[in-house]
Amino acid sequence: MKQIPYWLDTAPALPDRSGKELPDEADVVVIGGGLTGLSTAYHAARKGARVVLVEKDKVGSGASGRNGSMCTQGLTIGVGEARKRYGQERARELYDSFREAVDVVEELTHTEKIDCDFNRAGRLGVAYKPQHFESMKATQRDLADNFDHETHLLTRGDLKSELGSDYYHGALLDPLSAALHVGKYVHGLAEAAERAGAAIHERNAATGLTRLPGGGFLVETLHGTIRAQQVMAATDAYTDKALPWFRKRLINVGSFIIVTEPLGEARAKALIPNGRLVVDSKNIGHYVRLTPDNRLAFGGRARFAPSDPASDVKSGDILKREMTEIFPQLAGVRVDYVWGGMVGFSWDRLPHAGEENGLYYSMGYCGHGVQMATYMGRAVAEMMDGKPEANPLRGLGFPKVPVPFYNGTPWFLPFGGAYYKVKDRLR
Ligand SMILES: Cc1cc2nc3c(=O)[nH]c(=O)nc-3n(C[C@H](O)[C@H](O)[C@H](O)COP(=O)(O)OP(=O)(O)OC[C@H]3O[C@@H](n4cnc5c(N)ncnc54)[C@H](O)[C@@H]3O)c2cc1C
Repeated sequence: MKQIPYWLDTAPALPDRSGKELPDEADVVVIGGGLTGLSTAYHAARKGARVVLVEKDKVGSGASGRNGSMCTQGLTIGVGEARKRYGQERARELYDSFREAVDVVEELTHTEKIDCDFNRAGRLGVAYKPQHFESMKATQRDLADNFDHETHLLTRGDLKSELGSDYYHGALLDPLSAALHVGKYVHGLAEAAERAGAAIHERNAATGLTRLPGGGFLVETLHGTIRAQQVMAATDAYTDKALPWFRKRLINVGSFIIVTEPLGEARAKALIPNGRLVVDSKNIGHYVRLTPDNRLAFGGRARFAPSDPASDVKSGDILKREMTEIFPQLAGVRVDYVWGGMVGFSWDRLPHAGEENGLYYSMGYCGHGVQMATYMGRAVAEMMDGKPEANPLRGLGFPKVPVPFYNGTPWFLPFGGAYYKVKDRLR
């Protein structure tokens, strides 16, 4: 069993971008080489800025190369909660930005000819409890009436044509969500950023930031210092002690994925006949899809633990058990890959972007970063170009985690996790 992300293992080999000499200055320094950082670098370089991106490890080594490869629609907090908090007009604006984000990913794959299997496979939100299906009915009407978004309800009977499992009580199908191969996408976006003129420096962490009296920053890195007019923090759940302000605002949660052996086309099609992205409605839920070579990728939170090699294996065992509960026909199937990664959550479960004392940032995507990180990278490049209105998340603030002395280590997660697991069990 391989303990690396399937998506990185099956993407073309990434070039080594380490060991390059850092220039003395740049217009823009981007910290972090995931989708947020790469998209910011790409869009800022296209505007003519001299861009240097520093990445602690390799591009895509954070969540961007480790995720479920689902480019899905929909607000993290749901439309009802968004309306309650911000009113219909603002909820609609936020919803539209999440929808437009998928279009931006699609456009980029066309403009830059990124061959990453992007396709509008559709997202099947499956109801774990009968009452979840009832609330899906209300959501479907709300989306149609107030958000111009047509989704389709599937009863338990209808679901038979979409899923080889009778575990769920119905579903809501969103036809616009897309599947892609995120390893190929990250790779293609890094190449596009370089073609646009950005320089990517791997295995070079930013270690400190000093604001300069006349404006701009001095960025200290493992391999030298660089002056920059503008700096972007694109480190999300992998934010380290170099950026303490953000660590007080992020709750980083481990998420894990297993990928089976190739199942063959017929067997794979019997599981998810139309290739949908399946996401269940549990509090501690699962996300499931087929891979281009007919394996099943089965992800979930499994345990409230950080990701490391030993933890990933333990989580993989739990996921395998849960997978065969939902798909008993997979008992005995070999698991070829297991890995984990960290998901950056904010206290209010919305992503946040803006400028903190001159430092630009975008993070806290709460598990919806494939499309939003790309989209927000473009928005931040606009903001850096003097267009603050390009930020769809403006005015939301970025709340501190209201736990005394919190500094980025979420010791309280197992307690919350246990509560939600019990809630899920009460069917
Ligand atoms: C298991 C899993 C499944 C997921 N599934 C999905 C999904 O299906 N769909 C979806 O939309 N989202 C999903 N997500 C979330 C999504 O992957 C993230 O929201 C998104 O990738 C965040 O991108 P990013 O560029 O902001 O951060 P990252 O990709 O995490 O990149 C941050 C980078 O910053 C670097 N870094 C940190 N500190 C420094 C420093 N001091 N100097 C230099 N570099 C530094 C890190 O090495 C890292 O490469 C999932 C996440 C995980 C972990």
